[in-house]
Amino acid sequence: MNRIDERHTMFARMNYKEGTYQYEDYYEKNKDKKTLDDEIRKKPNLCSPGTMSYDPINSPMAEAAFMFLQDIHGLAEKTPSRDKVEVNKDTISKRLKGLAIHYGACLSNTLEMKDYHYYSHRGRQDNSYGEEIKSLHPYGVVFAVEMDKDMINRGPQVSEIIETSKAYVDVSIIGMIISYYIRSLGYEARNHMDANYLVVAPLVALDGGIGDIGRNGIITTRKYGSRVRLGVVTTNMPLNQDPKDTFGLDHFCNLCRNCSIVCPGKAIEKGDKTLINNDLRWQINQENCYDRWRSLGTDCGICISSCPFSQGVDMENIKTFENNREAIKNILNSFRETHKIRPYIKDPPLWLK
Ligand code: SF4
Ligand code: SF4
Repeated sequence: MNRIDERHTMFARMNYKEGTYQYEDYYEKNKDKKTLDDEIRKKPNLCSPGTMSYDPINSPMAEAAFMFLQDIHGLAEKTPSRDKVEVNKDTISKRLKGLAIHYGACLSNTLEMKDYHYYSHRGRQDNSYGEEIKSLHPYGVVFAVEMDKDMINRGPQVSEIIETSKAYVDVSIIGMIISYYIRSLGYEARNHMDANYLVVAPLVALDGGIGDIGRNGIITTRKYGSRVRLGVVTTNMPLNQDPKDTFGLDHFCNLCRNCSIVCPGKAIEKGDKTLINNDLRWQINQENCYDRWRSLGTDCGICISSCPFSQGVDMENIKTFENNREAIKNILNSFRETHKIRPYIKDPPLWLK
């Protein structure tokens, strides 16, 4: 698999302002993307007046979380202590996973990082735009934080982005503590956090055994579905490789298609996987998805709530869905009886009314 260039991601592209070096450079090299991106840029931003979900008191809560995260970017990388503590790989892997859980993660694993886990170039921040990512730590800790089911089931209302922004804060704080801890033991550590990633977090989570990637293009876990946010810390401290946690999600997605049916941006494939970047997978249309976010004013979340795994699937007696049509059909029938196509809570919680 080739490394992905962060400059092509929608969040990076939407930061390129007309008249800046980034804008001129990017659209000189990617002329086909300019017209569409210029159109999307004209729309109001997420959490802003003019969007469908805007609320002058509630929308700034999500914005506040992202502003805070921007302010702590500088803490993601620091010099390690000069006194190195000798650590046993098994022991420290166990400690780091436990520390993430203790600080609020619902899932946590360690892994050996691969080349393709890292972006090839940076794109999100003006001051690092176009920088080649060269220093690749060989090990990583990957963890997930659960998002509140009722808040996510309110998507695409503002409650949804209040929840996702909170989860970005939660994983960032956990990542900071893990990084500070590793550095105090004398090893390098970098926290990959919102708008400050060197890694593609879903690929790290897939190889680190957090879950599988389905039709909706996001990590889907057995227990919490895609109702999670991911954090990653990379390091030069040797760590164990946890096993992958593939449970035949492709087979489930082949029969399900809930997310593609409900997606208001028509961004999710209804057909089969295709070969992308030397890998067979379903590819989200990121332009369609992000364009819809700018109209809604939130990061939507409808595909998350429509996924049966996000609402809870009893997998106690199911090892895998591979060639298990009977189990898939039973789960889909019961989901549709309860939620039709997806659960939706119209009103905000009392504290946001
Ligand atoms: S977030 Fe919304 S628009 Fe984007 S893929 Fe999911 S359902 Fe579609
Ligand atoms: S909603 Fe269905 S098709 Fe979409 S990711 Fe979840 S299981 Fe797969």
